[in-house]
Amino acid sequence: PLRLSEYVQIHPTMFYNEERIGFLISEAVRGEGGRLLNSDGEEFMSRYSPAWKDLAPRDEVARAIYNEMTRTGSSHVYLDIASYAGDSLNIHERFPGIYEECKKSKIDIEKEPIPVVPGEHYFCGGVLIDNFGNTSLPGLHAVGEAACSGLHGANRLASVSLLEGLVYGTRAGIASSKTDKKEEYFPDILNWIYPNNISTTNNDPLLILQDWNNLNTTMWNYVGIIRTETRLTRAESDLRNIYSRITDYYRNTNLTKDKIELRNGVLAANLIAQAARRNTQSTGCHYIKE
Ligand SMILES: Cc1cc2nc3c(=O)[nH]c(=O)nc-3n(C[C@H](O)[C@H](O)[C@H](O)COP(=O)(O)OP(=O)(O)OC[C@H]3O[C@@H](n4cnc5c(N)ncnc54)[C@H](O)[C@@H]3O)c2cc1C
Repeated sequence: PLRLSEYVQIHPTMFYNEERIGFLISEAVRGEGGRLLNSDGEEFMSRYSPAWKDLAPRDEVARAIYNEMTRTGSSHVYLDIASYAGDSLNIHERFPGIYEECKKSKIDIEKEPIPVVPGEHYFCGGVLIDNFGNTSLPGLHAVGEAACSGLHGANRLASVSLLEGLVYGTRAGIASSKTDKKEEYFPDILNWIYPNNISTTNNDPLLILQDWNNLNTTMWNYVGIIRTETRLTRAESDLRNIYSRITDYYRNTNLTKDKIELRNGVLAANLIAQAARRNTQSTGCHYIKE
């Protein structure tokens, strides 16, 4: 079984750029004094977390950014280390990777704020495992982000996934090497049989692109950082429709990697949305608004 699928951790600050896939702007930048500014150039974290301000926990910061973006109708906010770094901090030396990556997008972090946006970071739930990576299916082990060991609770702490991968990976490896009934667990997989009237030409890439766009916006807007009953109800209904259309497409056309990935994506999205609908608590990762 799957557990805790609704707990999708969002990192508050991914680099924002319309043309490139975002990379992560480490929380250490805020640790060194960096401040978040909205599109009007105003510092806003003290309004959301008077005690911790920019050093509030991940989910609180992500929620505050999301609120500011919604309020100002902006696609991103800014993280400013240039104006707030102490005299002793050499930004370039302290954050060489971030400096170089931002430079590729013509942002000089020693002189100007970094455009940032919250982004999907870690799936806390997954296939339920025991302490040795065993799933409920005999002989099948799961480890890492695909698994739910319970180690992360409702909100993973930084770098714990590395620990989880190493510890559970080793344990599952040892456990699976002791299994002596491999043939019994994994019989030969039968060949895929296409129906007679299969379409081998209906491979329009726009169909797949459009479905991914639908999936992305539905998940981000309705099953994202802030969830409401209305949003989740809509998500479930929309995702059910997308799922049924994609399953039909998947069954009646020839298989390609893109189609398999899309089908897996929509299946995962459905499971996450259903789990989100059942959970009325805000204990970490996401926040339920009445
Ligand atoms: C931007 C970002 C920054 C992060 N920073 C940190 C950090 O600082 N510290 C930390 O602890 N964690 C961090 N994480 C989380 C961490 O990177 C992941 O949780 C971790 O990499 C998961 O490892 P994994 O081996 O379980 O899965 P993956 O790294 O996703 O590995 C799964 C592998 O399976 C392969 N695969 C998929 N499908 C198939 C298939 N059908 N057949 C064969 N192979 C397949 C994939 O290609 C991939 O290589 C970060 C995550 C992100 C997104």
